[in-house]
Amino acid sequence: MLQEDSVQKSKSSAMNNPAPLVVIGTVAIDGVETPFGKRDRVFGGSASYFSYAASFFTPVSLVAVVGEDFPDEYRKVLAERPIETSHLEVIKGKTFYWKGRYHSDLNSAETLETRLNVLLDFNPKLRFEKSPEFLFLANIDPELQGKILDQLEKPRLKFVASDTMNFWIQNKRETLLKIIARVDCLVLNDGEARELTKESNLVRAGQKIREMGPSHVVIKKGEHGVLLFYKNQLSVLPAYPLESVFDPTGAGDSFAGAMMGYLANTGDLSLENFKKAIAWGTVMASFTVEDFGLEALRRISLDSLKERLEIFKKLSTF
Ligand code: AMP
Repeated sequence: MLQEDSVQKSKSSAMNNPAPLVVIGTVAIDGVETPFGKRDRVFGGSASYFSYAASFFTPVSLVAVVGEDFPDEYRKVLAERPIETSHLEVIKGKTFYWKGRYHSDLNSAETLETRLNVLLDFNPKLRFEKSPEFLFLANIDPELQGKILDQLEKPRLKFVASDTMNFWIQNKRETLLKIIARVDCLVLNDGEARELTKESNLVRAGQKIREMGPSHVVIKKGEHGVLLFYKNQLSVLPAYPLESVFDPTGAGDSFAGAMMGYLANTGDLSLENFKKAIAWGTVMASFTVEDFGLEALRRISLDSLKERLEIFKKLSTF
C-alpha cells in the first residue's frame, strides 16, 4: 500500500539523517531538439528527473554537483518537492551540459554534445549519520557511482539500483562493470542492454546482465514497454499508450524515480510489488514526455498519477 503520510512528514527530516531514498546523478542544463520544437536551456539531468518523480512517493536526498551558473529558478523547482538538497554541491565552473536531438523515432536520443564541466572535479563526501535503505546510482560517471557506494555501509542498504548510458558504456566500461557487479538491480534501455552485453536478443541480454551480478534487471523499451528480470523470473509490462509524445528526455530517469520511490515507500521487494513499482514508473514517464524538461511533472499530483494508473491497469490486464 502507498503510505502517503510519510511523504509530508519527512519534508523536515534532519540534515544528517538521510531520506529513505538517496540518489546520485547529474543535475544539468540541457539543449533539446525534437520534431516538435527546440529549447536551448532546459532544466534536466538524471538526478533531477529521478528525484522529482521519486518525491511523489517518498522524501529523497539528492547528491549532485552544479556550477556557479546554476540558475536560482531551477533550485526553486527542486524546492517544490520533499527533495533534500544538502548534498547538492556548488563548485567553481559550469554545470554539466547535454545537448540531444530526437528524430521521428522518439525512442532514442542522438547526443550532439556532452560537456562534463564540474563533474570532472566532483568528489562527493557524504555527511549522513546513518546509511539510507534505498540507493539509486543514476546515470553519471561510474567512478562517482563507486564513490557513493564505498561510503554507504552495505549491510544497512536494503536495495541498490543503478542506471547508465552509451556514453559510459563506451568510455568507462571496466569501471562500469565493477559497479554493476555490486548492485541489486540495473535499470537501462534496450539499446544500452544490447551495447553492454553485445547481445541483440533482449531476453538473453537480460540474462547476461544477471550473470554480471544484479539479481534484478529492468530493460525499458520506450513505447514498447518493459522487461523485468526478477531473480530468475521474467515479467513483461506494456507502455502507457500515448497519442502524442512531445519530448522524451527524462522518461527513463522519471520511470526509475517513481519505481524506486514506490519501493522505498512500501519497503516491499516482492515480485508482485515490483510489478506495481514498474507500473507507477510507466505512468510517471508517460507524463514526463508530454512537455519539455520537468514542466509536465510540475503540473501533476499523486491524484493525476493514480487516475492514469487505473486506466493503465484496465488497459493491460486480461
Ligand atoms: P533519459 O531519462 O535517459 O532521457 O535521460 C535524460 C537526462 O540524462 C538529460 O536530462 C541529461 O542531462 C542526462 N544525461 C545525458 N548524458 C548524460 C551522461 N553522459 N551522464 C549523465 N547524465 C546524462
